[in-house]
Amino acid sequence: MLKQHYPIAIAGGGPTGLTLANLLGVYGIECLLLERNAATVHEPRAVSIDDESLRTMQAAGLAGEVLSQTVAGYGSHYYSAAGRCFAKVQPTEEPFGFPRRNAFRQPILERQLREALDRFSHVTAAFRHELTSFEQASDGVLLRLHDPWGGPLEVGCDYLIACDGASSPVRKSLGIAMSGSTFRERWLIIDLENSPSASPHTKVYSNPKRPCIALPGPENTRRYEFMLHDHETDDEMLAPDMIAHLMETHEAAPQSRIVRKTVYTFHARLAERWSEGRVFLAGDAAHLTPPFAGQGMNSGLRDANNLAWKLAAVTRRQLGPKLLASYEPERRDHAWAMIKFALNIGRVLAPPNAFVAWAIETMFRVLSLVLPARDYIAQMKFKPPPRFAQGFLVPDGEDVRHTLVGRLFPQPRIGGVPLDDLLGPGFSLVVRSERAAAVLPMLSGDPWRTLDARVVTMPLAAGGPRLARFNDHVLLLRPDRYVAACMKVDDLALGAEKVARMIAATV
Ligand SMILES: Cc1cc2nc3c(=O)[nH]c(=O)nc-3n(C[C@H](O)[C@H](O)[C@H](O)COP(=O)(O)OP(=O)(O)OC[C@H]3O[C@@H](n4cnc5c(N)ncnc54)[C@H](O)[C@@H]3O)c2cc1C
Repeated sequence: MLKQHYPIAIAGGGPTGLTLANLLGVYGIECLLLERNAATVHEPRAVSIDDESLRTMQAAGLAGEVLSQTVAGYGSHYYSAAGRCFAKVQPTEEPFGFPRRNAFRQPILERQLREALDRFSHVTAAFRHELTSFEQASDGVLLRLHDPWGGPLEVGCDYLIACDGASSPVRKSLGIAMSGSTFRERWLIIDLENSPSASPHTKVYSNPKRPCIALPGPENTRRYEFMLHDHETDDEMLAPDMIAHLMETHEAAPQSRIVRKTVYTFHARLAERWSEGRVFLAGDAAHLTPPFAGQGMNSGLRDANNLAWKLAAVTRRQLGPKLLASYEPERRDHAWAMIKFALNIGRVLAPPNAFVAWAIETMFRVLSLVLPARDYIAQMKFKPPPRFAQGFLVPDGEDVRHTLVGRLFPQPRIGGVPLDDLLGPGFSLVVRSERAAAVLPMLSGDPWRTLDARVVTMPLAAGGPRLARFNDHVLLLRPDRYVAACMKVDDLALGAEKVARMIAATV
């Protein structure tokens, strides 16, 4: 039985919607999740989850469970058509508290996320419920649903979050177009079980004749992704003989069992607007990313992480509703940067001809002779960093390369405990100062009381040399762990004034 009204309704029980529902559950916000299917997906889709998403799982209280089904910390090795390895991307650093690249299985993650919703009596997961249409008014959204018994049903909500996937019916009914790049490629995806591989790392065949990525997964699973050329039809590439030939020529273990083969067409696009009135788009509904960087789902999880605490703060009237207007400016540029990142990786793995392939290989070989360049590639420092330049933040006048404001804060361990576990689910004030005892009394009044910010003292040595510039500072972290303000201890009163103004602007 559904209620007549929910503060938040989520359309779509894919990874974005399920993560959002879990985070709202943690924040204690009542919400309704609608999914038209009877169950979460069975077929393999995403196979790579990054450190930022694992940190989001930590916020949802699920890091341990998700990690138990994940092969943590795998790299990518790039091979030329002649079989020479010319680049290794194998990050070892863990700035956000988790390995940067990890192999996982989307169906398992979705099942874990769905089961985790049972923890919350205030979260209703309504599977076999399809959102058929909606109407917005100034004070809410009316949803029309089809329930499993075929009955039309009406439910109200304050905000509707459309996590309804690439072909988002909600986005279409709002008349919001997708735009961006003309990129459109067909890839043959083959998922294998019982397919042990010699190396735990992704093997990228940068072969203009047949670009291919082979990704080992948990429990001897393996994903192959082959680029198709324009003249090749789906049917001829899916034929058993062709599949057997591709497996043989790309080192699949002979005993491998094919669990799925399909042709996907990948796009690189952004929705022209990410919201209209009380309706917000998130995940594939807002952006489509080619899979080469393994970022489609990870981008959707960033959306959920960005929206969840804002919806919670607005619902409990801690902050005003204009806070929600910061969602798109904070997320849009980063989502586009991830799309461009994926397209660039696509250029390396799928060179158009032998000459370009040779040029790319040579460039990487030269770069590998230079230590900082080798480190830049190996540590994946070319991945767009999690940061934004505008939104719910107080600029500190530093240039974009140096400021901490708008960046995802690192997650060191303090006394063996991951920082986020000390911070808790809300806002926090991280004090980095030898004068901490004198600073703490200054953090008890407003605006910190409005934000209900938890004060945590961070030893100066924690966080490594990168944070040394921010000794004798107090940092305001948002619930999504992005830095909203960076204040010198001596300028705390001024910082408090600016934060109070930022809060007032949300009303
Ligand atoms: C082959 C392949 C490989 C990929 N590899 C990676 C990877 O390695 N890493 C990565 O990060 N991403 C990867 N992706 C992308 C990733 O799978 C998607 O980005 C992700 O599934 C998007 O999640 P979502 O929740 O936004 O949308 P979806 O997973 O599409 O979920 C949308 C849900 O909404 C439901 N729905 C739709 N309309 C309604 C309605 N009207 N009412 C109720 N429910 C509705 C649908 O049934 C569906 O369950 C890959 C994708 C593919 C296809």
